[in-house]
Amino acid sequence: MDPSCMVFHYGQEMFEGLKAYKTEDDRILLFRPDKNIERANNTNDRLCIPRIPEEDFLQALKEIVKVDAAWIPTNPGTSLYIRPFIIATDPFLGVRPSSTYKFIIILSPVGAYYPEGLNPVKIWIEDEYVRAVRGGLGEAKAGANYVASLKAQVKAHDAGYSQVLWLDGVERKYIEEVGAMNIFFKINGVVVTPVLNGSILPGVTRSSCIELCKSWGYQVEERKISADELFTAAKSGELEEVWGTGTAAVVSPVGNLRKGDVVAQIGNGGIGELSQKLYDTVTGIQLGKIAGPEGWVVEVL
Ligand SMILES: *Cc1c(COP(=O)(O)O)cnc(C)c1O
Repeated sequence: MDPSCMVFHYGQEMFEGLKAYKTEDDRILLFRPDKNIERANNTNDRLCIPRIPEEDFLQALKEIVKVDAAWIPTNPGTSLYIRPFIIATDPFLGVRPSSTYKFIIILSPVGAYYPEGLNPVKIWIEDEYVRAVRGGLGEAKAGANYVASLKAQVKAHDAGYSQVLWLDGVERKYIEEVGAMNIFFKINGVVVTPVLNGSILPGVTRSSCIELCKSWGYQVEERKISADELFTAAKSGELEEVWGTGTAAVVSPVGNLRKGDVVAQIGNGGIGELSQKLYDTVTGIQLGKIAGPEGWVVEVL
């Protein structure tokens, strides 16, 4: 590539992330690829990258997974990670949308996210740096969001925390999401998750968990939720479960939340009942063991 390629200088880049799963009867399944493709084109619109026709995108995914089908691992919890991405390739210095791009898909077998089971993670609520603001890139899956997150991630790691929980970029008061996961709370029996406000990434796992919880009869609230409300609920014992959702881990239980000097311990060091049920159900659907809602799995082979 030419060192002057625009992606290197102005960050015009988008990506997606999904997985292919091998079933026990040797079929290969994708989980809701239409949602990833729809989101990819929303990201493209935001970054002035041309849209990719949905059928072409899906065909590209299926074809490359077929070519590399032998790389799909079969041990429990493993899968083939799929990373489509687009980069701006005009060799040009000067700020404008590129007129040439490369659309590339890379793949990698991935191991079980939790070799020792679903251990709760410790989360650092960041009150200095912000990830995104409304009107910015927060709801786009862009590399630029991740470079903005590094400073706080290093800070959290240095303090012994594995993930950053972002607050809204204006008041630094309301919960947005975790590094590469959306976040859910079960408060007094009600499932609560931050409403998609323009600076939160609309996760496919997030929307799947909302649909499942509703189908099981839970009251689900997508709304603003402040860090103060969480710590108050934790204190009174009403914060029953906290979990993150994303393609990589599917459901990731949270056992510890820290903001400044205040720490909230959630649960008793294990995974909550609803978090476990969501994990079992989503992974069961992905592996073709449980019939999910219409259209959630797409067969490649
Ligand atoms: C990809 C991503 C998620 C999770 O989305 P899924 O579609 O569920 O994998 C959440 N937050 C951010 C910032 C992301 O980039």
